[in-house]
Amino acid sequence: MPVLVMKFGGTSVANLDRIRRAAKRVGVEVAKGYDVIVIVSAMSGETNKLVGLVDETSPLYDAREYDAIVSSGENVTAGLMALTLQEMDVPARSWQGWQVPLLTTSAHSQARIEEIPTDNLNAKFGEGMRVAVVAGFQGLSPEGRITTLGRGGSDTTAVAFAAAFEAERCDIYTDVDGVYTTDPRISPKARKLDKIAFEEMLELASLGAKVLQTRSVELAMRYKVKLRVLSSFEEQSDEAGTLVCDEEEIMESNVVAGVAYSRDEAKMTLLSVADRPGIASIIFGCLSDAGVNVDMIVQNISEDGRTDMTYSLPTDQVKRAEQALDVLKNDGGLNFQELVIDEDVAKVSVVGIGMRSQSGVAAKMFKVLSDEGINIKVITTSEIKISVLIDRKYMELAVQSLHDAFELEKA
Ligand code: ASP
Ligand code: MG
Repeated sequence: MPVLVMKFGGTSVANLDRIRRAAKRVGVEVAKGYDVIVIVSAMSGETNKLVGLVDETSPLYDAREYDAIVSSGENVTAGLMALTLQEMDVPARSWQGWQVPLLTTSAHSQARIEEIPTDNLNAKFGEGMRVAVVAGFQGLSPEGRITTLGRGGSDTTAVAFAAAFEAERCDIYTDVDGVYTTDPRISPKARKLDKIAFEEMLELASLGAKVLQTRSVELAMRYKVKLRVLSSFEEQSDEAGTLVCDEEEIMESNVVAGVAYSRDEAKMTLLSVADRPGIASIIFGCLSDAGVNVDMIVQNISEDGRTDMTYSLPTDQVKRAEQALDVLKNDGGLNFQELVIDEDVAKVSVVGIGMRSQSGVAAKMFKVLSDEGINIKVITTSEIKISVLIDRKYMELAVQSLHDAFELEKA
């Protein structure tokens, strides 16, 4: 029988009523003839609560115990979902990650999936089980301990199962009804997209459109898993939600698919560092060792063998970066004049695969910002994305005017 993967996020399983509602949807797919693998998150708020308990008990916690604790929320919802389905006379069974087993690396709290053997579940499907309810977010390390896949990891669990079982589709049920051209809270003209290409979704996901865990999109792209994002609170139909798919499946699309933003960005500039081989490696090696996630990087032209180096990073990592560079300066590893920090910036990006073949998108974007009197501080581009760093107070204005200028409200 064809396999369908259905993933329910925290708000979709927040209480018994919602679990029943979700179970009914599963029942509909079972009636259509699918064997269904249901992936569940913890009830909403539950994982945060567990993380809080860990922090309170041990600020410098042992990551193995962190995983043992924070993975438990999913165990509860998996069991409850299986029981609910049984109450509806649907043959269902719950599985924790280790029982499948979903094999991962031993990088606790950030583990990566290595393999999902299909024989255990398939044997049960062969015996008449119609729904396997699997606890998302968790797996088993080579050392035999429970691991977790990072916050939002149930999305990645779902896509990995869809790939392993060659599912027809992976439906991600959440509290929004799809992927939008931008955040509807910022631009009321934001439009739900019927389809979006993997690569566009990847850019939007990593730029802070929090619908899907970025890694789940990477995985879906690699294994060509058809992903659908839809709301568990609205009526079900075959066209509901947004399909994240291969670009070949999208006949016609706008040059720009969406405008993304990331609010809490900071910019740091090292004034007057030596311009010679090895300097960038020292700076960014030091930041990386300190656990700083650097995003945009710009190096100025040099004068008299010295240059300025600018980069962006999340605001909550500024202190860490500052400390690391201080240490580097004081121990003589790096000589620079001054470290200038700007903590009031935001990143705004336009994304679209159409940019590969159409020119003028950057020029138009800069014109729009200039017409609004918004100063651009840093620019970076990729094949399908243009990002700018601007003062945070102009972020909403920038998003709205770009959405208008590229007419994203129109299909
Ligand atoms: N429950 C986990 C979290 O809140 C995993 C997930 O829901 O995707 O991050
Ligand atoms: Mg999520």
